[in-house]
This record gives sequence, C-alpha cells and structure tokens, in this order.
Amino acid sequence: MTSGAPPRGLRTRALVARALSITRVDRPLRAIAERLAGGCVLAFHDLDADRFRILVEALAPSVPVPLDELVARHKAKRSTAGLFAITVDDGVGDTVRALSDVALRMRWPITFFLPTAYIDTGDAMAFQWLDLLLAVAPHAIVPLSSGPLDLSTDALRARFDARIRHLAYTQPMREYQPLLGELREYAAAAGWLAGQSRTPPSPIGVGELIALGRHPEITFESHGVTHTAVCALSPAELDEELGSSRARIAEWTGRAARHFCYPFGGPESIGTQAPLAVARQYESGVTMSRGRLGGRDPALLPRIPLYPRDTADVARLKVLTR
Ligand SMILES: [Zn+2]
Repeated sequence: MTSGAPPRGLRTRALVARALSITRVDRPLRAIAERLAGGCVLAFHDLDADRFRILVEALAPSVPVPLDELVARHKAKRSTAGLFAITVDDGVGDTVRALSDVALRMRWPITFFLPTAYIDTGDAMAFQWLDLLLAVAPHAIVPLSSGPLDLSTDALRARFDARIRHLAYTQPMREYQPLLGELREYAAAAGWLAGQSRTPPSPIGVGELIALGRHPEITFESHGVTHTAVCALSPAELDEELGSSRARIAEWTGRAARHFCYPFGGPESIGTQAPLAVARQYESGVTMSRGRLGGRDPALLPRIPLYPRDTADVARLKVLTR
C-alpha cells in the first residue's frame, strides 16, 4: 500500500492523453523525455490481468527489463532511455497470480515486493483491515470498549479513515493497531464479517511463491517484514526489518533480496535516516515519489504508479510527463 492519492483533474488528464495519442506526438515526446531523464520504474498494486497487460503494452516501444538490470545501469550511469521495470507491491495472492501469469506469457520481467510477515502468517495488514471494516460497518455509532466510534455519516467515516491512515503512514503500529483490533473484534462479534468477500485479501502462498520464483522473469524483493512506515522504527528495528525480510526471501527463493520498497512510500513515511540503512543493505530503495530515474539517489528511486482506472492513453501520458 502506498500514499498514492487519487490524482486531481483525472478527466482533464484523460482528455489530454487522448489528444496526444490521437495526434501521435506522444512517442517522439517520450523519446525526448527519456533522453533527458532516463527510464522509469512502474508501480502497480491490485489490478486485474487485462488492465495490467493494456497498461504495459501502451508503453511500447519502450521495453521492460529486470529491476536489477535497470538499477545496475542507473548506478553505473549508463543510459536507461527506452527501458522500464515492472514492480508490484504487497504480495496479494490474486494479484501475484494474475500478473505473473501475464508476465510469463508476455516474457516481461516482473518484481513483486513482499511484506514477509503477511506472507508468513496470512494475517492481513492494517490498511487491508481498515478498507474491509469500513466497507462492512453500518452507518452507526460503534460502542467500542475504549469509547464510542461514530461511523454514522460519510464525513465521519472519511475522517476515521484519514486518521488511521495518517497514523499508519507516520507512526509505529502500537498507535493504531489496538483501535483497529477492537473494531475488528466488534465486527466479528456483530456478524459483519460473515459471508463471502468479507475477509481481507489473502497473500500469495509460500509454495506458490517458491514455484513462481523458479521462472527467470519473476523476482521477489523486500517490502519489509511488518509493512510499518520506516520513519517510525528505531534504528535497531529498521535493521531487523531490512535484514530478516531479505533473509526470509532468500529462504523461499534461494536468492537474497537486493531491492527494498518503502512501505507507503511517501517522504512522510520514509524520513531521513532509513535511506542510509537501505543503502547499506540493498542495491536500491523504491518510493512512491513520482518521476523518472534521472540522477536520483539509488536508495530513494522514484516510480510511476499506474492504477486500475488508468487507460492506455493515461499510462502513456504519465510516463511522458513525470
Ligand atoms: Zn505496500
């Protein structure tokens, strides 16, 4: 999960994208942008196979290369023009299955960033529970033991959502897990979680992950252990997250993780110290700051997020204008 908020001016962007595409100026413009600022790393979260294929195909004639190769070129100051890496965050089972299937058919290198505790335990992450609980909770005041939680209006629900997200993006888990846990227990007791589609998304299974990792196109890299904002970790906790997630991935795949994806990915979640630790343990760290590789610090690489709502034209425009 990331701090990528829905972009403003979505309709304007779609119109501009369509106009550029119709006039066929996007390709030469993109070539100029790439010569100036190099290739890029795409960031996907949950989307279906067809939309994923459409968005990646839209970027031709640019070609996908392994993240490892893109980063190595970037660090060696070799050209990355016309190249991009495909990355997918969070390890949600349905997403990993669907996108790796497309990637294997199309022979596209793809990197999945895994939060290892989610994979190991199957316990959903806080933001996955937040989404589910807000989807199933009725518009009512919820009598939690720590005090009433007023979810009776859309505005109050949005405020609760924003409050928990802000805590998750900037604070240790102890600042938001207890309240979410209480709401989760209440929801279970009240029967809100009974029925289909009322469980948070399951992670990719370890056996599946091991099988997928045998394909050279597919690599698994670290998204930490607990998906905690790294700015909220002590130096010792951060070293533990970086080191034990890398080691766990090595146990699964036979290959230690070489790249780190910052949970939530915005500057407010990363802070100033974590990139130094990432640089000591990893070849690169990727963020949700938007942009091309340019001359950027390998421990703070920008990415270009693409979402299920994006069209092929919008994907081209995003890659063109970042
Ligand atoms: Zn994430």
